[in-house]
Amino acid sequence: MKHLSHPSTSLAGHDRDSLARWLVPRGASEAEAARAATRALCTAFRGPRPDALDPGLPEPPRRAWDETSLRAASVPARARAALLELSPAPCLELVERAPSADGATRLLFRTWDGRLIESVIIPATTDRPRPRTTLCVSSQVGCARACSFCETGVHGLERHLHTAEMIDQYRIARALPQAAAAPISSIVFMGMGEPFDNLDAVLCAVELLCEPYAFAFAPSRVTVSTVGVADKIAAFFARTRAELAVSLNAPDDARRTRIMPVGARFDLATLHRAIADALPRGRRILFQYALFAGYNDAPADADSLASFVQGIRCRVNVIPANPGPDPALGTPSDERVDAFVAALRSRGVRTLVRKPRGRDVGGACGQLAGARRLASLPVVRG
Ligand code: SF4
Repeated sequence: MKHLSHPSTSLAGHDRDSLARWLVPRGASEAEAARAATRALCTAFRGPRPDALDPGLPEPPRRAWDETSLRAASVPARARAALLELSPAPCLELVERAPSADGATRLLFRTWDGRLIESVIIPATTDRPRPRTTLCVSSQVGCARACSFCETGVHGLERHLHTAEMIDQYRIARALPQAAAAPISSIVFMGMGEPFDNLDAVLCAVELLCEPYAFAFAPSRVTVSTVGVADKIAAFFARTRAELAVSLNAPDDARRTRIMPVGARFDLATLHRAIADALPRGRRILFQYALFAGYNDAPADADSLASFVQGIRCRVNVIPANPGPDPALGTPSDERVDAFVAALRSRGVRTLVRKPRGRDVGGACGQLAGARRLASLPVVRG
């Protein structure tokens, strides 16, 4: 088992601003700190070609993280010592890779304090000249939101993840051979945890992912999801240009609250108002609607959903649910999915069906980590 350093000492825990803030009390002037932060990120994460800013490229060979390379990058002496207190090494260890028959691969990571978290590499199903791959990352160990269809929610919240632990899910995933063949071009914060419950750390990770001198993702390629924590939606839009996905999963408050306790705090009317008030001009939102057989999949439910989203620039992703911990919430038939989608589209709602991936390796979020936690025996597969 590898020794892992604490994520608070990791370079990957800082976006450009927070790195500059780290340097100022350690002797750098504000101007030096700003310049040094940019050059440090470039040295650590972009390698020797700072002009090659294509997101999703396989990681270029990095410069060594030492006095010589920082001097070569014209980082002032006062900042060099402070920067070298931070480690560029990943603070997670990949302990298992579980490939699925549908092409998705679940990654199980161990944290410095022995906890287990998951990411999922999801290759696109469509044929494109350059295949696109999405990485689904976790933002917490466990989750306090207790959605009844979710394995992660069953175990409760253990702790928030640090920014570096979110970034390192990506850094390790993109170095895998399959990511070299089909580079990761989108990141979604839809793994274990409710990102809005750890919003500062998530937004710092988003900033670093979108930083031109670090990982250079376009903000439109990074999506943060929420279960519907309505009182943080305005702050989200004020602080980032990343995309927002909101999980609805039921067409009325009674059914929504039964499977998503957050509905008792923020009902659908409150959620609608929060989104409509905060959504910036020209932007749109993604609504997620997991379809459960016989629970929320009737054409009348599609009508109610269409009424809810009316007036909000959006797309609806309909997701036929994976089997999860709640036996009452089963997978709908293809016919029910088709009828639901047809009803939505007939009301003019932009709708996509997203097939859940990785059913055979623990298809509901947190299932793999949950299973390994129960077994307490991480299996090292590479
Ligand atoms: S679905 Fe998301 S918010 Fe709900 S319990 Fe699972 S991880 Fe938490």
